Amino acid sequence: MTTTDANAGKRRVLTLVGGVAAALGLVMLVIGIVGFLRSFGSDSMDAPMGSFGLFVAGGFCMVVGLALLNAGTLRLRANYVAQETAGAVRATAGAVSDGLGLKSSGRSCSSCGANETADAKFCSNCGSAMA
Ligand SMILES: [Zn+2]
Repeated sequence: MTTTDANAGKRRVLTLVGGVAAALGLVMLVIGIVGFLRSFGSDSMDAPMGSFGLFVAGGFCMVVGLALLNAGTLRLRANYVAQETAGAVRATAGAVSDGLGLKSSGRSCSSCGANETADAKFCSNCGSAMA
């Protein structure tokens, strides 16, 4: 598939920034949790509050990063989903069009030219007898 891709640059930036932000957020989150849990032994309340702040900031950073990653990889995932479901979509569309008589049987009405199913006795569009 060779379509012109105007969003390639944006996508690269989104994926890069999102990946870095998500990774950084995860590190901050882990450091925050570890620091918070380890500070329970101490008497000061400054250490747990600082760790909790880091935990919250890390979580926020990770959420934003994942959202950016999500946007940056949307095309990739959409293409994958499209490829994976193409067969089923084609089969469904074929079954639907067969049911509606849209698939050309090679027969068409001599009066109005409408496509008809192979076993049609009369044209479903104008009602004239099929040859
Ligand atoms: Zn007809």
